[in-house]
Amino acid sequence: MPVHRADAQHDVVGPYNRLSASQANTYLACPRLWFFEKVYRFKMPQIPVLFIGRAVEEALCRVLRDSPSLVSASAPSNALGPSPFLEDGQPEEETHPAWPARNLMPLFPHERPSSRAELSEWARARCAMHLPPALERMKEAWEKDERRAGDWAEVDEAMCLEMVVNGVHFHLDEVERCFEKGGGPLLSAWRCGDRPLHPAPDGYPFPSFAENHPLATDAGITWAEAWEVARPWFVDPDAPGFTMNAIHPEHWFQGEYDLVYRWDGTARIVDIKASLGANDRSGDYVEQMRDYAMLWYVTHERKESVAGLEIWYLKHPSIKSVPVPSNEELELIEGELEGLWKRLRQQTPSLEDCPPSPRPVRGFSAGGVPATAPDEVRCERCDWRAVCPGGSGPEQPSIPSSYQLPGASSLTPLEPIGSLDPRVTVRGEVFSVRGRHGQRPAIVHIKQDTYDAQIQIVATEDSEGQSTVEVELERGVPLLVRNAVFSVNWKGEIVLKIDPMARVEHDTDPSEESSSLFDKQAKHNIAGMVVYTYEKSGIGKTGKRWSRKGMMIMDATGATKVEGWADDWNHQYDLVQEGDTVALANLGLDAWASDVRGDYTRQSTLHIMERVNGSTA
Ligand code: SF4
Repeated sequence: MPVHRADAQHDVVGPYNRLSASQANTYLACPRLWFFEKVYRFKMPQIPVLFIGRAVEEALCRVLRDSPSLVSASAPSNALGPSPFLEDGQPEEETHPAWPARNLMPLFPHERPSSRAELSEWARARCAMHLPPALERMKEAWEKDERRAGDWAEVDEAMCLEMVVNGVHFHLDEVERCFEKGGGPLLSAWRCGDRPLHPAPDGYPFPSFAENHPLATDAGITWAEAWEVARPWFVDPDAPGFTMNAIHPEHWFQGEYDLVYRWDGTARIVDIKASLGANDRSGDYVEQMRDYAMLWYVTHERKESVAGLEIWYLKHPSIKSVPVPSNEELELIEGELEGLWKRLRQQTPSLEDCPPSPRPVRGFSAGGVPATAPDEVRCERCDWRAVCPGGSGPEQPSIPSSYQLPGASSLTPLEPIGSLDPRVTVRGEVFSVRGRHGQRPAIVHIKQDTYDAQIQIVATEDSEGQSTVEVELERGVPLLVRNAVFSVNWKGEIVLKIDPMARVEHDTDPSEESSSLFDKQAKHNIAGMVVYTYEKSGIGKTGKRWSRKGMMIMDATGATKVEGWADDWNHQYDLVQEGDTVALANLGLDAWASDVRGDYTRQSTLHIMERVNGSTA
């Protein structure tokens, strides 16, 4: 619930540097694990179960969003269309024609469910309607994911449906409590059309109604009304991603609640888990809920605490209540998290600052019930055990400073990965501007002495929303192209890519340092331990299929992805295993914001230097 959004004037942290409960939990599980995933950006294998959880949650939220007074049990899943949001997650104006609930005729009173059993039957039918498209969307996302792993054929749709239905039954218990309490203290305000600042997503515009709520009756509360009144706040499944976070007033922490129940005049936060809850992560969920309680407290001027914290385990249908911390505990949690943020996000720690020291595995039985800890160490199941000294990896990857590649006449010098820098600041004069791509010119060339380069504007705004091109691009205009990503394309042209970290400025200050276009090294040789390989493919705009392959490698100074068209890789790619040491020669460099990537082309070479089992290739 975006109770407190980022305040652009005072937000010195920025959207990418806030701490989250999951980051804090990852660090506490193992500092090296946090470093690998948050600094080196290693991505764990994306198995279907991760996507199933998202589909189950989405389907549940779509059922909660439906109204038994507007949508019949057999209506298609899109009967209540998406609500209109702006890019930043703010709702469109009340007058916007796309608010979907307003465009539906309410059902006649006798057509609405009139008992828990009827409501339950209606809700079950809605679950069956919403789950298949949600699963289909997630299957597509899984198929596109370069770290896709496992087999979608193993997804048990019946089990998924059961989990959604279990979640709906927990909600129906709330609806029943609300019904039995005569609608609770907020019923008359709801009937009069009052809406809270952050209403539960229901397809109506956010402001209060000018008159009574269009679904209100005027006698004793009905079951259909209880569904409306008890509906919790949740992330509208059609809202733009990452816009529904609550943000700490000092901007260093953020969290996205799953459900917030408010019908009885208090606030209770629920986290949905499409799992059994019988493993170590159940310990993290408790911490997450305590962090959310802190977030609620500080975003309500430290005057309001939540009344309850619940974890809903949908696979072993059970609700785990987490004790609400006292105000003193909430202040302590806040202090600890702020200390952690300072350690991790204010300045990025080094690999050495994040030792391979995993905490013991905790034991839980189904439903998140504490149990005897299993006899295992965290590293045994860790995705990074092949490259981490906590697993079977070396203390530090040992990479020589040069290497004899087969067929090369001399030793190839190897650069440390941490020293790769694709960025350059250059001066030049606009030589030509051709075509337009929406707001920006399609092709811009600059000249610097006798050399020329193409400016490729791929981001028109930085992360703060500031324009990356601060000058009108016309022939003859002197430019300072700051921090552009330098590469050479297949035609041999120099390309200066403008991403969110680059700028095109008017060249007015001769004291600004800049480089010659030909000073910049275009090709690089690196070596490192293979963390994983990946593949991705799709259909291009012309209808042709494309396919790319890549690998994540690390040395003692850093980690980077190296990626190229599938056909450009040599035969060694298919022999590579996690933990092998490889040399990659004649790579270009590419970057997007702080991510630097090696670009493998037909002219590049991959060679396995040493096998994970110690043999030399
Ligand atoms: S292998 Fe062990 S020490 Fe290394 S990152 Fe994983 S959990 Fe941490």
